[in-house]
Amino acid sequence: MIIMSITATKEQVENVVREINKCGLEAVTTTSTHRVVIMPVGDEPHTDLSHLLSFPGVKEVAVVEAPYRLINRELNERLGEHLDYVVEVDGLKFGDKEPIYIAGPCAVESKFQILRTAEAVKSAGADVLRGGIFKPRTSVHSFQGLGSKGEAEEALYWLQEAGNKVGMPVVSEARGESQVDLLAKYVDIIQIGSRNMYNQDLLTRVAKTGKPILLKRHFGAGLEEFLSLAEYVAAQGNMNIILCERGVVPIGRGKSFTRYLLDVSAVPVLQRETFLPVIVDPSHAAGRWDLVKSLSCAAIAAGASGLIIEAHHNPPEALVDGQQQVTPGELKSIITVCNQISRSIQ
Ligand code: PEP
Ligand code: MN
Repeated sequence: MIIMSITATKEQVENVVREINKCGLEAVTTTSTHRVVIMPVGDEPHTDLSHLLSFPGVKEVAVVEAPYRLINRELNERLGEHLDYVVEVDGLKFGDKEPIYIAGPCAVESKFQILRTAEAVKSAGADVLRGGIFKPRTSVHSFQGLGSKGEAEEALYWLQEAGNKVGMPVVSEARGESQVDLLAKYVDIIQIGSRNMYNQDLLTRVAKTGKPILLKRHFGAGLEEFLSLAEYVAAQGNMNIILCERGVVPIGRGKSFTRYLLDVSAVPVLQRETFLPVIVDPSHAAGRWDLVKSLSCAAIAAGASGLIIEAHHNPPEALVDGQQQVTPGELKSIITVCNQISRSIQ
């Protein structure tokens, strides 16, 4: 990490970046309120950059051990910043005081379904509309989303139109690199699903769109791994990252009562480790609608900056994840109690 002096000029910063590139590394430049900091990205441990100390405008060349540096809270505070990074989407602020509620169906199924659900979740108090078009499914025989039926653009258009109609930004998942440009045309936030958390190429690709990225934790990933992979997005200069805890593999050998095991402690731990906003998906963690409220309350009580909840205007009709999607009425009751909890802990 190269810390520039407060008086460093633009030319001096560019000069240091050029030298880092000459050493075979990329450089991410961040301008804090006090000074410019340049983070080399690449095989840094094997590259000696100590000579940069003699470059004009350089105050300090620090070796940083943490595998995630660009999004590291402690490092940031060492630079004199006390930042809770706010990811702004259409005037909504992830990471600010008020929790943000993302809701909508697991998958976009039809124009009628997404519009009906959009209207219903909006009146239940949701802020952002979700809807999967490229569904990651374990079985090739299950419904893969309209994207896999050659109807991706039409479905994206319905999602965007539904969002516009009720005044909500929209989020949808990129399952593969080839889908990224199309998604970026229609959605406000690109989601990277749990199964793709380790997909470095996809993370780099979506980061380059400059869109906010909702990154879900893999169900077998430790928190350090989760943050290290989030760093791939930051390394492209895209800090608009919303981290999402969505449950880890449940323990025990028997049939589990929940689909995954919600790691509530991930919320305060991640908030201590990084300045990025952290939200929770209670729906995929529970795998059943009747537990979604309890897990939502727990997440907000733990300090989560928001929730992403699967909701359908008529869950028994859903083509996928019907058992865990809540009705608009249930969503309204969840949002109401979560807002009360949030106010009481502020
Ligand atoms: C989803 O949110 O639609 C989803 C598939 O979740 P996850 O990647 O967490 O399983
Ligand atoms: Mn789902």
